[in-house]
Amino acid sequence: MKVGLTDHPRLYARQKSAIDAAIARVIASGRLDWGEEVPAFEAEFANWNGVSQTVAVHSGTTALKVALLALGIGPGDEVITVANTDISTVSAIHFVGATAVFAEIDPTRRTLDPAAAAAAIGPRTAALLPVDLYGQPADMIALCRLARRHGLAVIEDACLALGAEIDGVKVGGFADVTCFSFAPSKHLGSFGSGGAALTSHADLAERMRKLSAYGQSRTRHYVSSPTELCHETYGLNERLDELQAAILRARLPDLATFVSERRAQAGYYSRSLEMESLMLPSPAASTNHSWRNYVIEAPNRDQLAADFHHEGIATNLTYSPALHLHPALLEMGLSRGALPLTEASTDRLLGLPIGPHLELAEIARVVEVAHRILNPR
Ligand SMILES: *Cc1c(COP(=O)(O)O)cnc(C)c1O
Repeated sequence: MKVGLTDHPRLYARQKSAIDAAIARVIASGRLDWGEEVPAFEAEFANWNGVSQTVAVHSGTTALKVALLALGIGPGDEVITVANTDISTVSAIHFVGATAVFAEIDPTRRTLDPAAAAAAIGPRTAALLPVDLYGQPADMIALCRLARRHGLAVIEDACLALGAEIDGVKVGGFADVTCFSFAPSKHLGSFGSGGAALTSHADLAERMRKLSAYGQSRTRHYVSSPTELCHETYGLNERLDELQAAILRARLPDLATFVSERRAQAGYYSRSLEMESLMLPSPAASTNHSWRNYVIEAPNRDQLAADFHHEGIATNLTYSPALHLHPALLEMGLSRGALPLTEASTDRLLGLPIGPHLELAEIARVVEVAHRILNPR
């Protein structure tokens, strides 16, 4: 039995009739652009997350970029973030002209350490950009308090943490802007690309809507009568498209169930692997992890990955090595040893299969293989 990290056809089969109907509805409507699906999805997604405003955009990367632009962050500004994240987090900072500054992680949570962030604040710091790694929310309470004290903006990269909670409040309810991705393998996957920026500030939402839609008011274009073009700002064309919005609307009603399935699978892993010589994820108290990834740490990670592969179990290295060790970021001048806690984690991490494309029996198979390879006779 092979166990994979993703299985899009199998996941589609679970929601086929709703997805097929959504696609047919958009095609039959004839409104392939500026239709009703995007604003309807924005309202439903905002409601699901308990936040007043959702701006639906082309990707998680776009969400991060328009959030930074809408907050006025650009050349001369520094943004404090982490090096154990997707390249998109720092690319967004780079492409608005700002400078990323890496701070260390809390090694248990594996997210931005508030004390390290505080130490990294300087005269040019404009924002904190914590990442909710693997579905574990960063310490948003402490980070927002720190930001308020220094007059900084907070942009939260929650691309891996849809549905996660802190003190019973979903991520999205803490930062100035919280960014999500609908890449196919994320919690809520499109059939292409998608993303969203959530905020409770209506003015910020309107700026992000314009920045991602040619600098024009989107609402003007939702009316069917002809209106003169009016570009109020410069703007990109990085909106979510109607088909993806319809597909995401079809999938949203199952999202809570799918997150629960991830929690059950993670619970099974943690109970079954407890006795092994692995560092298991340990969710922070007061948070409800949403388990986009189940990531263990082991000193002999590469051998372990090879052994799993040999047994038909797919694993991944999200995100290893740390970003400052990639060629694109060498210009930062940080070499190995610059971020010891981040490097220790990223050098040892290994992601195991998890998600609603799997049955609990397949998680049990991964566990059985793990026991066998960790305890050779
Ligand atoms: C997926 C992801 C992104 C980028 O999202 P895209 O939709 O692929 O652009 C950014 N940050 C993190 C942490 C992610 O996991």
